[in-house]
Amino acid sequence: MKNNSTSEALFEKAQAVIPGGVNSPVRAFKSVGLPPRFIQSGSGSKIRDVDGNEFIDFVGSWGPLILGHAHPEIVDALSDAMRKGTSFGAPTRQELEMAQTIADMVPSIEKVRLVNSGTEAAMSAIRLARGVTGREKILKFSGCYHGHSDGLLARAGSGAATLSVPDSQGVPRNVVQQTVVVPFNDLQAVRSEIEDNPNRLAAIIVEPVAGNMGVVPPNPGFLEGLRKLCTRDGALLIFDEVITGFRLAPGGAQEYYGVTPDITCLGKIIGGGLPVGAFGGSSDIMDHLAPVGGVYQAGTLSGNPLAVAAGLAMLKILKRDNPYPELEAKASRLTDGLKQILDEKKVVHTINRVGSMFSLFFHPGPITCYEEALGADRTEFSRFFASMLDNGVYLAPSAFEAWFVNVTHSDADIDATLDAVRGSI
Ligand code: PLP
Repeated sequence: MKNNSTSEALFEKAQAVIPGGVNSPVRAFKSVGLPPRFIQSGSGSKIRDVDGNEFIDFVGSWGPLILGHAHPEIVDALSDAMRKGTSFGAPTRQELEMAQTIADMVPSIEKVRLVNSGTEAAMSAIRLARGVTGREKILKFSGCYHGHSDGLLARAGSGAATLSVPDSQGVPRNVVQQTVVVPFNDLQAVRSEIEDNPNRLAAIIVEPVAGNMGVVPPNPGFLEGLRKLCTRDGALLIFDEVITGFRLAPGGAQEYYGVTPDITCLGKIIGGGLPVGAFGGSSDIMDHLAPVGGVYQAGTLSGNPLAVAAGLAMLKILKRDNPYPELEAKASRLTDGLKQILDEKKVVHTINRVGSMFSLFFHPGPITCYEEALGADRTEFSRFFASMLDNGVYLAPSAFEAWFVNVTHSDADIDATLDAVRGSI
C-alpha cells in the first residue's frame, strides 16, 4: 500500500473548513470509499500527490487536459498574459481572436460568448433558447449532465432521482417541472413527447456522446433524428459539447457525426485548464442576447485575459498539430489491451469508447442509456479503482465517468496501465 498519511491528514483538516473537504463533490472519493489524494503537481501524463506518490492520470482534470499537465506552450502563454494584467472587465483583442478561432473550428458557431464554466454555458444556452422560441419547456436525457443549474438537475448523471423530481434539495419542484426527461438514445420517447405536446419545447439539450453516465455513444441515427424532430417542431437543438468539444475532432461531436445543432455549449478543453465555458450558434440566434436583444446574460470575469490566453494557446495547438488520429490510436491500443486482459480473466465487462474517451463497465452490456449503465457492478468497480490507484494509475473515482486519454500518454504509460490492470483483476 502507498503511504497516504499527508493526504489523509489534509483531508481531515479540510473537512473542518470545506464541506466534505472538497470544492466539488465527486473529488471526495466517497463512492469508492477511500480518502482522496491531495495533488501537488502535474507534468505531462503524470500527477504527484503530497506524499510523493506518482500516478499516470486518466482524469485530466475531468477532461480539459487533452495536451497533458503543464504544457509548456500554455504555461508560456499564461505567464506572458499575467504580466500584462489579470482582469480588465473590458473588451480585449485576445477575446476577438478566441471568438474567431472558435467560429472557425466549430461548424455550427458564427457568434460565441465566453462564460466561466460549463454550467454557465448550458444555463445560458437554455435561457437563450427560451428567449428565441418564446417557449418554456426543455427536454433532456436521463444520465446526461449539463452542470448544476436548477432546471438541469433532473436525472443528471449518477444521482438517484425519479422523473421530473429535483436531483438536489433546494431545487424548486416547479422549475424542474419545466424539464422533460427521457432515456438517452430513445428517439421514440422524444417523438411521443413532441406529439403529445406540440410546439411546447424551447429546446432539446443533449450530450452528443454521453460522458456522465460513463461513456455512451449515440446510436446510429439518434442525433440525426433529434435534428429532424427539432426542425419540424420549432424547438432548438442544443449540443452540450463541454466534454466532446475539441476532444473528438477540432469541431467536436458535430463535426465527428456530421449533425449541426442550433446552439453549442463548450467548456473544459476550451479553457486550457483555466475556468472557461462558451456558448454559440448562428448570428440570428446569438443576436437575441443583450445588448443586441432582450435575453440577459453577463459575467464580471467572462473573457478573463488569463483564461483566454490559456484557451487560445490550447486551440492553436490543436489546430496546428491535429492530434486526433494519434489520440484515437493511443486510446484504441489501451482499450484493446484492456479487453484482452479482461477476456482472458473471464471478467464480465463492456467497454464503450469514442475517440479518446471511454468507460469500462463491469456489466455484460450493451450499455446504450443511463438505465442500463446503472446495472453495472459498482462494488467491483470500487475494488478495481482502489487497486489501480495502488498500482499507480489515477482513474475517476466513479463507475459512471470517463477515462480521458491525452497526447502525453506514452506507449510506456499504456503498458504500465495494462500491467496495473493485470495486477488489479
Ligand atoms: N456539461 C457537461 C457535458 C459536463 O460534463 C459538465 C461537467 O462535467 C458540465 C456541463 C458542467 O461544467 P462545469 O463543471 O465546468 O460547470
